[in-house]
Amino acid sequence: MKPVNSVLSSFGVTVFETMSRLAMEQGAINLGQGFPDSNGPENLRRVAADAVIDGPNQYPPMLGIPELRQAIAAHNKRFYGLDVDWMTETMVTSGATEAINDCLMALIEPGDEVVLIEPLYDCYLPLVRRAGGVPKLVRMEPPEWQLNGDQLSAAFSRKTKLILLNSPHNPSAKVFNDDELKMIARLVIQHDAYAVCDEVYEHIVFDGKKHRPLMTFPGMRERCVRIGSAGKTFSMTAWKVGYITAPSELLSVIAKAHQFVTFTTPVNFQKATAFGLNQDDDYFENLAGELEAKRDLLKAALTDAGFAVMKTAGTYFLSIDIRSVGYTGSDVDFCQDITLNAGVSAIPLSAFYGPGSGVVDHFVRFCFCKQDSVLNDAAAKLKDWSMNKPKGPLD
Ligand code: PMP
Ligand code: GLN
Repeated sequence: MKPVNSVLSSFGVTVFETMSRLAMEQGAINLGQGFPDSNGPENLRRVAADAVIDGPNQYPPMLGIPELRQAIAAHNKRFYGLDVDWMTETMVTSGATEAINDCLMALIEPGDEVVLIEPLYDCYLPLVRRAGGVPKLVRMEPPEWQLNGDQLSAAFSRKTKLILLNSPHNPSAKVFNDDELKMIARLVIQHDAYAVCDEVYEHIVFDGKKHRPLMTFPGMRERCVRIGSAGKTFSMTAWKVGYITAPSELLSVIAKAHQFVTFTTPVNFQKATAFGLNQDDDYFENLAGELEAKRDLLKAALTDAGFAVMKTAGTYFLSIDIRSVGYTGSDVDFCQDITLNAGVSAIPLSAFYGPGSGVVDHFVRFCFCKQDSVLNDAAAKLKDWSMNKPKGPLD
């Protein structure tokens, strides 16, 4: 038989699914895949449920319902001072993942170069390559996760079509600072390129800091596409409502990808997301505050268990250095080991690097958007395991 698509068939099952499946089989506490263990805010669930009962339950407009698109524009103004025309510059998608796919399909011509920063979120590389893009990877490494300006400039060329930037960044939990964003903006302008900005963790930034979209930097408004997710902002990852803000010339083409991929997004979740985005500032401050307290809790408990914990400026995640407890195996071994023997699962950071990079192999990521009792329990199990168990797969 003729071969199937070579790009997609070259990738395995995503690490998030694999680790969640293993955690479930083993009855382990799942601190791997990033999702809260609560049901999400009841007021939003009520709006969504009422919308199903009351209807309409038929195709909403392709770009999204007006009330949500107006809420997206108002949210851009309220938090970032961005003036956005909801009718020509906003679109609703079925999750940020679809939004990323739509942007890449719409902006890339086969052979275009795409600058990507490693570690990177699982769908970036396959989607860029499936769209015909040529990935140009720039690597950040723990514990400092510095973005090297020379390496970044070297990744840009005459053929660069876009950079795909994730800030706050999964899995490093880094929030790119103004100097880094200015450097990226300068390179984007210099190479007449675009920036697709995955900002799903925009409201999950800690220590009194605030997220600054690249789109707000001089010269970036007309070159940036900004992506958000109700899954993260409202702690309901199963809802799969994403939203794009982009200049109208770009959005009109991105909308073609959406038109042919999903066409639309469940209307009840759109209504509830509109309600969510229109909530007072308190909601957004509380979200960051509650998650910051959970970060502190897990960080303190893992530090007490003897692990070296990396800085965590935002997102759902913190990472540890497994060598700090004398573990000599790889990050993948460690994640298997703790799932089986400590009853806790995590994600190896090597999974966020392209094939064969092989450099970052002893850091693992834990997700802390869980109940405090679950975090305490997990840390206690890890402490017990690390004090009593062999430190490597061969010991
Ligand atoms: N981008 C990043 C960086 C993520 O961590 C995730 C996972 N939540 C997504 C995109 C996907 O978001 P969604 O579930 O809205 O598709
Ligand atoms: N964003 C989530 C994470 O990093 C995973 C989402 C997914 O499994 N697709 O854990």
